[in-house]
Amino acid sequence: MSAEPRSYETFSFSGVALDPIHVGTGGTRLGRVDNTIVRDPVTRIPKIPGSSIAGVMRAYTAMAKEKYPNCAGLGQPERDGAGGHCGSADCPVCTVFGFAKGIGSSGGFAGLAAFSDMHVLLFPVASQLGPQWITCPMALRQTGIAKPSELGDLPEQQVLYRKTDGAEALPSLNLGWLFLQVKTDWQPLEEIAQKIEELGIPGYITSRLGVVSDKLFTHIVNSNLEVRTSVAIDPATGAAKKRALFTYEALPRGTVLFWEVTCRNPKHFKINGGNKVEAVGSPGGVRDVVTKAHPYLEHLGIGGMGSRGMGRLRVLETTKPDDADKSGKEDK
Ligand SMILES: [Zn+2]
Repeated sequence: MSAEPRSYETFSFSGVALDPIHVGTGGTRLGRVDNTIVRDPVTRIPKIPGSSIAGVMRAYTAMAKEKYPNCAGLGQPERDGAGGHCGSADCPVCTVFGFAKGIGSSGGFAGLAAFSDMHVLLFPVASQLGPQWITCPMALRQTGIAKPSELGDLPEQQVLYRKTDGAEALPSLNLGWLFLQVKTDWQPLEEIAQKIEELGIPGYITSRLGVVSDKLFTHIVNSNLEVRTSVAIDPATGAAKKRALFTYEALPRGTVLFWEVTCRNPKHFKINGGNKVEAVGSPGGVRDVVTKAHPYLEHLGIGGMGSRGMGRLRVLETTKPDDADKSGKEDK
């Protein structure tokens, strides 16, 4: 490792859904569900888009830093010019998340933190042994837990792979409607389980870890989403609207999500026509600002239907030191 300041660092985070989480697509109807959640167009696995996360994190960081509401939101000032992003070099919210308006004639700023999508890392499914947390090679590759080139496909496609330790000698296990043969001879699983533990994921989850093929995982996730039925309330009368029964799907409570935050080095940026960034001094400082939002995620939640007891996410404390391999070295 060199002592050169890095141009960016990438930090990994994971979190457990304390409630079902619904991040909607905006009312498209798919099959029996009225309000579907966002899915990856290729894998068909639900995800939470990075743009949604950035907006929520910004709002909560602004609350934590007493910059709410002006420095939260999209930053459009009122018609009389009041409000909107402050855009100051010493504002942790505007420097880390960017701002729309410039001071004087200069333009906005893209921000020092960039959020990946939140991907499903571990998905809870009921079995005869209680909940099991399921993943697949594709989900592991998306997280950086396994390098894409190193993690091959599973030896068998219709099998549930578990660890040898802790797992009872069990010939088969049901995952919802699926009945699968259990095997413990997939070698990479020991190392993967250890890396998952290093993310801070609790033992009650890691001891019930199972791996299935990518194809099975897609089926398992999409057939075990929560589908809730609700009634739209007419704001004029306060009563249920006629023919306003609707259904919506959500990631179930206990889903483990994984995301990355790429933090750029503030020393490489000038804002407002040549001012240094004063609010933060390093990629680690950028991360520290972002983590101010985490307690709010646990209490106020992410996504829609917050008033119906949805969306709370507990961000986990990683025990792993920051990954130096993923940092960009300074270019001379
Ligand atoms: Zn600001």
